[in-house]
Amino acid sequence: MDTRISLPTVALGLFLAATAASSAFAAANETVYKPDSNAPRASVPEKYKWDVSGFFKDSAAWSAAFVEAEKDILVLNAFKGSLGEAKYLKPCLEDYFKARQQVDRLSAYANMKASEDDSLLPYQEMSQRALGLGNRFRSDASFIRQELLRLDEDAAAKLLADESLAPYRAYITDLRRRRSRLLGTEAERVLSLAGEHLWAETDLNEIPSDIEQVFKAVKKDIQLPKVKDEDGKEVQLTFSNYEKYRASKKREVRKGAVEAFLGALSKYEAILAATLGGEVKRDVFMARARGYDRSIEAYLDRQDVPPSVAENLVASVHQNLGPLHRYVELRKKILGLKDLHLYDLYTALVPSADAAIPYEAGLEDIKDALEPMGEGYVSALFGKDMLGRGMVDVYPSKGKDSGAFALSAWGFPPMVLLNYQDDIKDVSTAAHELGHAMHAKLNIAAQPIQDSGYSSLIAETASTTNEMMLARHLIAKYQGNDKMQLYILGRLVESIRTTIYRQALFTEFELKVHGYAEEGTPITAELLNKTYADLVKLYYGPGFTVDKDDGAEWSYIPHFYWKHYVYSYACGLASGISFSEKIVAGDTATRDRYLAMLAKPREAHPVDIMREAGVDLLKPEALKAAAKLMDETLTEMEGLVAKQSKP
Ligand SMILES: [Zn+2]
Repeated sequence: MDTRISLPTVALGLFLAATAASSAFAAANETVYKPDSNAPRASVPEKYKWDVSGFFKDSAAWSAAFVEAEKDILVLNAFKGSLGEAKYLKPCLEDYFKARQQVDRLSAYANMKASEDDSLLPYQEMSQRALGLGNRFRSDASFIRQELLRLDEDAAAKLLADESLAPYRAYITDLRRRRSRLLGTEAERVLSLAGEHLWAETDLNEIPSDIEQVFKAVKKDIQLPKVKDEDGKEVQLTFSNYEKYRASKKREVRKGAVEAFLGALSKYEAILAATLGGEVKRDVFMARARGYDRSIEAYLDRQDVPPSVAENLVASVHQNLGPLHRYVELRKKILGLKDLHLYDLYTALVPSADAAIPYEAGLEDIKDALEPMGEGYVSALFGKDMLGRGMVDVYPSKGKDSGAFALSAWGFPPMVLLNYQDDIKDVSTAAHELGHAMHAKLNIAAQPIQDSGYSSLIAETASTTNEMMLARHLIAKYQGNDKMQLYILGRLVESIRTTIYRQALFTEFELKVHGYAEEGTPITAELLNKTYADLVKLYYGPGFTVDKDDGAEWSYIPHFYWKHYVYSYACGLASGISFSEKIVAGDTATRDRYLAMLAKPREAHPVDIMREAGVDLLKPEALKAAAKLMDETLTEMEGLVAKQSKP
């Protein structure tokens, strides 16, 4: 089976540090767990499951805390109308953050339990209850924000000067940043009843709107057809196995899956367009209710990010489409195809058989890769309160949430969910999520609850910097193994394609669709299909063939319900590339500024602190550097391919 070829070392001018890695992870006489998505959760060894008891001992403890949290929220009411005085404001804020910590903790536990197995209804219900509690908390406590925002300048200055409120100065100041957006008491009450989240101190993608719930429900009801798998057997296509068939190495399988999938979605395009249109109009309504012209201004203003960051991303990508067009051609060449379709985009360019990396070995790679981050970072990540405890839920199992995420609540240890399947891409995902977890750890350690937190922009930088450091490490590690090189370089190019180009395309689509709502253009399936297909044509270039139903791809993407979130993936990876290149090259000054950035308080303006650390998101440089990396990687790949095709 192993057809590893051994050839002389290839020179990779691209990567600066060649870390000599000695993965002495043998485990030769230990039985190795074989990941299986259909295995019942009980069959996964305990040491590969997360330990959520740091949050609650069990469901009974959770339920008891839920009742307490409801009381804690009610207690806040006693402070209504008194917050102009420091002697009331201080205990009110103390109680507010105490309640918030509990609400966050309850929802973290519920989300973790619900993600373990979707067939366990009590946990699904628990997660719904936690969501409801969060909404009630935000709504009930909204008077605090309103009273603080209604204070005139003199009254606010007096409060801010009060020594007893010193710990809350940054929090109050940041809250008052948007005071011009506050409406009258009655209007505020109505907006909060309508589920307005523009002030929520949490990631908006965690708070689904009613319309997003409709979208999810529609997806559940959609009848996807059966398709043929690689053995010619008929299998039921689902939203979760679609990606697998889309990436099949057999062209007729992936073509069949993509055509069947998009064809089926097209049959539901009217309802899916109405659903997305509804979400978009809701975003615009919320923004306009607060006097913003465009919804992107309102949603990015939450994190003090100007819309020009997303616009600069799109403009910079337009100027750097060359490497993506070149990639389309290289794919054709490697796959031996005359034309390249959507169904040819996800199949691996080289088989990954050689690349099986068990979890422990993957962690070793991550450890070696992160060495330039410094001893403090690495030992914290691998220490007893991070990877040294049950922080990670490693393997897939039946009913488990697909994908991967990191989760944190102030005062509690960060947690990570993976679906690790021994592939290099899983090591990469682990590096990504552990980057999020370390960000949370550093931030929580440095900041009290009222100042802890960060923008999605910096969050996605913290994760992708690690991911890129891993890529560099693996390329150095597998020097001389052309097949592995090609596989790893291919993965790197894919992550630039899917995280920068594809997410920039999503950002542009999102901007355009919100634009339709803002100018009053009716949002129909036809318009959405055309808008999407036109962007695909523009991004992938003349060498890419756009098929009849390709324009329908927008219709199943959940991120379009996340209210202007996707730009942060693209900007995050572009920044991560810039930071990781410097850190791997041994630029310790950048590394220190970067680590300091992760620990900064929530109120710090993300674009400014990123600039201080070394990346300016209002300029095209970071994107240019990412495009250059893609271009250089493609050159390396072409060299390897040429070498392989020689007799
Ligand atoms: Zn991430």
